[in-house]
Amino acid sequence: MQSQNVVAIADENMIASNGGDKAETTFGEQRFKVFTAKQLGQIPQLNRLSEQQRFDMKVVASVLPFRVNEYVINELIDWNNIPEDPIFQLTFPQKEMLAPELYDKVATVFSLNDKSALNDTIREVREALNPHPAGQMEHNIPTLDNETVQGVQHKYRETVLFFPSSGQVCHSYCTFCFRWAQFVGDKDLRIAAKESGQLQDYLRAHPEVTDVLITGGDPLVMKTKNLRAYLEPLLSPEFNHVRTIRIGSKALTFWPQRFVTDEDAADLLRLFEEVQAAGKHLALMAHYNHWRELEPEIAREAVRRVRNTGAQIRAQGPLLANINDDAEVWARLWQTQVEMGIIPYYMFVERDTGARHYFEVPLVKAWEIYQDAMQRVSGIARTARGPSMSAHPGKVEIQGVTEINGEKVFVLRMIQGRNPDWVQKPFFARYDEQATWLNHLQPAFGEEHFFFEET
Ligand code: SF4
Repeated sequence: MQSQNVVAIADENMIASNGGDKAETTFGEQRFKVFTAKQLGQIPQLNRLSEQQRFDMKVVASVLPFRVNEYVINELIDWNNIPEDPIFQLTFPQKEMLAPELYDKVATVFSLNDKSALNDTIREVREALNPHPAGQMEHNIPTLDNETVQGVQHKYRETVLFFPSSGQVCHSYCTFCFRWAQFVGDKDLRIAAKESGQLQDYLRAHPEVTDVLITGGDPLVMKTKNLRAYLEPLLSPEFNHVRTIRIGSKALTFWPQRFVTDEDAADLLRLFEEVQAAGKHLALMAHYNHWRELEPEIAREAVRRVRNTGAQIRAQGPLLANINDDAEVWARLWQTQVEMGIIPYYMFVERDTGARHYFEVPLVKAWEIYQDAMQRVSGIARTARGPSMSAHPGKVEIQGVTEINGEKVFVLRMIQGRNPDWVQKPFFARYDEQATWLNHLQPAFGEEHFFFEET
């Protein structure tokens, strides 16, 4: 079970300096209360839905992970605008998130009261949802002395991903999460480390690694003392080659109290300062999907406090139908981030897993939204790369659509590659209005293979 603070006690850290403003803001005691699929019936706001809608939610929540906390329910969702509200769509299961035949399969068994049949059906349906996209179970797990290194992925030469075992949940779950398989309790699908000893051994043997990304789940569900146990050893001279420590997190959205009123919030900020003081860069890779996540005062205070430590916040998130497939939403998100001192970093294409059919946007539309949003902001906010697909060979960015020698093509670029020689290489694919992922694309100009494909 995760170790996040259940009750955050008010202390001296609740007085915010407001980044130089004279005004001070006080944040009161916050209780972390979370609802899972079993407690769907205890969320009073859902009473405004019909019985059928609530049943649909339970059916979908039996397959895809569901977890939402009271802060999200009370502060982020506009209950006068459900089901369309983007944060409601971001966190609550919708019937259409399962394809009709899969929904029917589960719904039929759900009503039978046969636990074993239900479990079998759920397992079958989960398998049909491509639980590990981009071959991450088979291809990115490194070995050391012929042994698998637990909880580590190494795909790109300079960056190692680390999945601490106590960071494999989130303060709430996103309905589109590409890591959903890690949350559904099947141990075979988990990627997690029991402790960091193997990570350290691996880093010692790999001086080419400059970046360690601590990820999950959300590593900031951990108490600071546990996170410290992972990070502190990396500050010693033997790991001087590790220049940047990144922490992937959605806590700034789902539980900003983590940086403001949690009992170990001040210690967390101190840890960020210590990483910086050791001469390394600490980057909080913040996951945002909508500018609404940045509106609550406590969310803004959390950003101010993180920035005051010297850490940088880089923002990333996927483009999603039903949540943010709108240029105006992205332009406002990026503009707001810039005003708050957050660096827009990535617009991702939704991955080919889970409820993908519900959220997917054709690549051409994704690029149009990206271009339109870019045109609405100044150069300062144009630091977000994308739309980018984290695919098996690497991160592929759609640069645009054009015509070359009479052939309409996608212009693409490999911004990160399994093979370092591929990085920044442009390439072309035949224009395809329906394509939603790299594997739907064909090489342009009569070529048989893309340059990264084995012949
Ligand atoms: S916060 Fe990140 S890891 Fe957690 S559910 Fe959302 S997308 Fe997935």
